[in-house]
Amino acid sequence: MTGLRNGFAGPEPVRDDDASTVLPPGQRTRQELTNGTGMAELHESIASLLASRGQWRQAYHHLRSALDLMSTADTPKVPEQLRHEVNRLRREHAEAREQSLRDSLTASYNRRYLDERLADLLAEHAGSDQGLAVALVDLDWFKQVNDTYGHVLGDRVLQRVVDLLQEVLPSGGFCARYGGEEFVLVLPSTDPATAVSVCETARARVERFPWPQMAPGLRVTISIGLAHEHAGSESETKPVSAEQQLISADALLYAAKQSGRNAVAYRSGSEVRLAGMAAGRRGSPNRRAAGY
Ligand code: GH3
Ligand code: MG
Ligand code: MG
Repeated sequence: MTGLRNGFAGPEPVRDDDASTVLPPGQRTRQELTNGTGMAELHESIASLLASRGQWRQAYHHLRSALDLMSTADTPKVPEQLRHEVNRLRREHAEAREQSLRDSLTASYNRRYLDERLADLLAEHAGSDQGLAVALVDLDWFKQVNDTYGHVLGDRVLQRVVDLLQEVLPSGGFCARYGGEEFVLVLPSTDPATAVSVCETARARVERFPWPQMAPGLRVTISIGLAHEHAGSESETKPVSAEQQLISADALLYAAKQSGRNAVAYRSGSEVRLAGMAAGRRGSPNRRAAGY
């Protein structure tokens, strides 16, 4: 019977692990003493999980407990079951966070991730040499693809286009679904010429993909508006916001569409240009077409 001796309920004496020594009540076993920080770490982990969910009050209590335990030499050992439970919570939390940042159809990042990450990246890049590029990608005549082949095939086309867009991205670059059949490529630490080359290569990759293997007669192309922090005439001195970058990319996308689609439009100083073969097209965009 635990704690009941001589008719009164007191603390149970503790038995050491490997010896049959019975320690006085309140005194920790050797194993507990050597595993001092375990419980504190556990409280700290729970605190950061709760804080990341905005549960500040509960997080504070766990942090307080962690600090109290850290200031005591003989902190107790974490029960194994509790440790598993925290690990499970951690995993679930990481998975839920990852899912909340992905687009369910294409598995590319979603608008939420784009908004968060782009703002952070622009702040990080402020004043850097290479700068950051934002490319707005839009499938050409995609409504016709749906109308001709159906939405299920349209969905498969979107998934494949994302795969092709993501195939070769510079380190730290990512693809996010902006909405509908529009995607954004974010290329951090990329100079303007490299950004043009990455986008033109992605455009050509989509054009050359054997689409008829997916459905007879299917053809898919994309148009891209590519904005670069350092490509404008004034932008070298002024920091650019995520919204401004996306507005510039959108204006350039319009120029690419106007030029006949299946093209990458970008700015060089105050001029709007088309990359690759499209550069030679008649009716190539000018400043007016891009809204400058
Ligand atoms: P443009 O070259 O001017 O961009 O022409 P477009 O036909 O691509 O543009 P429009 O805006 O007229 O049509 C976009 C189409 O994209 C219409 C919409 O049904 C389709 N779309 C958007 N999201 C999805 C999706 O998740 N799945 C499928 N299958 N279609 C989608
Ligand atoms: Mg569109
Ligand atoms: Mg489109």
